[in-house]
Amino acid sequence: MKTLNKNKRKKLLVKRGAAVCLVAVVAIVSACIIQRKYNKKNQVSAYNSTKVIKKSKIKKVKSKDNKLSGADVFNIENCAPGVVEPWVTKKDSPHKVAYLTFDDGPSINTRKILDILNQNNIKATFFLIGKNVERYPDLAKLEVANGETVANHTYSHVLNYRESPDVFVNDINRCDTVLKSVLGDKYIPKFVRFPGGAFGRRIPPFKAAVTNAGYRFINWNALDGDAEHPLSSVDYLMDRVRTTVQGKKVVVILMHDAAAKTTTVQALPQIIQYLKSQGYSFGQLQ
Ligand SMILES: [Zn+2]
Repeated sequence: MKTLNKNKRKKLLVKRGAAVCLVAVVAIVSACIIQRKYNKKNQVSAYNSTKVIKKSKIKKVKSKDNKLSGADVFNIENCAPGVVEPWVTKKDSPHKVAYLTFDDGPSINTRKILDILNQNNIKATFFLIGKNVERYPDLAKLEVANGETVANHTYSHVLNYRESPDVFVNDINRCDTVLKSVLGDKYIPKFVRFPGGAFGRRIPPFKAAVTNAGYRFINWNALDGDAEHPLSSVDYLMDRVRTTVQGKKVVVILMHDAAAKTTTVQALPQIIQYLKSQGYSFGQLQ
């Protein structure tokens, strides 16, 4: 009886031992499989993250080179100091070109204007007031990231030209300093639009001083008339565009990105459609 029990116990122990071994083997195999899967997953995610980094690098390059290229680019950087007139320089252009320009920003309208430009795959030029760049530096950066051209519209936008030309040049230099501090070198240096334009009997000594300081400056030869009243209707703005572009092959169109100019934002899609219907393609000052 005792021997029988002993044999039974032995068999039981062997069975238990085998079971424990089996469990151990299963556990080891499972652990190996899990480990392999984990490693694989990590490899994949590491690969993905490299991919993401590469993608974002590509994106950055794209946003840096987001600007328009091709025949309709008007290259400012090659222009000598003094007045720049694309409608004169490009008067023999084989096709009609419109350069959209927005003065006085950035403002609460900037994002809306950029959205409309993006919807139409158009790049514009923004002449920024230094004070407004200090107030909305992120909007100035957004313009650059969106591939727009950014240039100088003085720091304080004094319209009466009663101070000396030196004071005026200092105000332009101040805007240049603000643009540089916010945008680095991602704006056109030494390129300015005079507040109110470089017109009128007071202006010649100011033009001379700005030119002597090494700046190029540009006026316009068409407009939407949004500066002619505090707030004009969309119909009025459309009418001014139609009238002022008429018969012109190359147009630099003056509009305003100021907080009060809400109808310019409303009219912009129609202005673009009208220019397209008249056979204009859209260029960029760079
Ligand atoms: Zn202005």
